[in-house]
Amino acid sequence: MPLLVMKFGGTSVADLARIRNAAEKVRREVARGYDVIVIVSAMSGKTNELVGWVEQTSPLFDAREYDAVVSSGENVTAGLMALTLQEMDVPARSWQGWQVPILTTSAHSAARFTDIPRANIDAKFAEGFRVAVVAGFQGVSAENRITTLGRGGSDTTAVAFAAAFGAERCDIYTDVDGIYTTDPRITEKARKLDRIAFEEMLELASLGAKVLQTRSVELAMRYKVRLRVLSSFGETDEHSGTLVCDEDEIMESKVVSGVAYSRDEAKMTLVKVQDRPGIAAAIFGPLSEAGVNVDMIVQNISEIGNGGAVTDMTFSCPTNQVARARKAMEDARAAGLIAYADLVQDTDVAKVSVVGIGMRSHAGVAATMFKALAAENVNIKVIATSEIKISVLIDRKYMELAVQALHDAFELERG
Ligand code: ADP
Ligand code: ASP
Ligand code: MG
Repeated sequence: MPLLVMKFGGTSVADLARIRNAAEKVRREVARGYDVIVIVSAMSGKTNELVGWVEQTSPLFDAREYDAVVSSGENVTAGLMALTLQEMDVPARSWQGWQVPILTTSAHSAARFTDIPRANIDAKFAEGFRVAVVAGFQGVSAENRITTLGRGGSDTTAVAFAAAFGAERCDIYTDVDGIYTTDPRITEKARKLDRIAFEEMLELASLGAKVLQTRSVELAMRYKVRLRVLSSFGETDEHSGTLVCDEDEIMESKVVSGVAYSRDEAKMTLVKVQDRPGIAAAIFGPLSEAGVNVDMIVQNISEIGNGGAVTDMTFSCPTNQVARARKAMEDARAAGLIAYADLVQDTDVAKVSVVGIGMRSHAGVAATMFKALAAENVNIKVIATSEIKISVLIDRKYMELAVQALHDAFELERG
């Protein structure tokens, strides 16, 4: 039988009525002749609550127990979804990660799939079950501990199942009716896209657009999964939502196709770092070992001071990793690996980025971007570019203004 993967995010399973609404969509696909693998998130707000409980209990928590606790929200919705489907006379069975088993690395809270053997679920389909409801976001390590995939990880569970089971399509049902030119919560001028290229979606996701977890887009691109984002509310058909697909399936695209933002960024500057060959490795090695996700890096021109050449080194990282970054730098200084005068942090910054594959062949995007920000008096603190994106770090209080200004400057409202 042809197979579909349908994933329902937190708001789509937020209460029993919404679970019924989602189950009705599944029932319809079963009636059309599909076997369905349903991936569910926890009810909205549940994972945040569980994370809060862990942090209150143990600030420097054991990551294995963090995963044991925060994975539990999905177990509840998986069981409830299977029960709801059974009440609709659809033969359904729920699966927690370890029962499949969804095998992952042991990188707790950031685990990656190593294998998803099909045998157990295939056997249930062969018995006549039409739906397997799988708890998203979780797996089991080789040490037989429960793992989680990082926030938003149910998207990745969905794509991985679509790849493993050769699904016709992977439909991600959420609270917006597709992928927009920017977060529709920031500007009502945001426009829904019918299609977006994998590369663009990958950049948008990694630059903060949380509509899809970055890793899910990576997997879809690698395994050629037909990935679609659509609303779980209201009527939908096979043309609804936004298809994430190969570049050559898109007829025409604009130079810039989207604007992304990431609110919780911090900028840290090591002042008067002793400059010598190997200094970057001596700084970023310990940061990486401490689990700090460094994003942008700027090294100033060095000056010759009393004790030799010195420079300022600035990097950005998520706000909640600032304490860890500071400790890593202080430890490295105490161990004599690096020398610096001061470590200055700015935790009130945000990153705003423009993305588009058209940037490969068009000059002038950076100039347009900087002009638009200047017109709004937004000061740029750090700039980073790649082939298809330009990112700037700015004061957080200007973030929404900057997104709106860039959306206007690149005329994204118009198709
Ligand atoms: P779910 O719980 O279904 O996984 P998420 O909250 O993780 O849903 O993701 C959906 C949200 O992503 C939307 O409500 C929207 O605010 C946000 N979002 C950010 N950028 C975009 C974008 N470019 N297009 C659509 N939604 C976006
Ligand atoms: N429930 C998890 C989270 O909130 C996973 C997900 O919803 O994708 O991050
Ligand atoms: Mg999500």
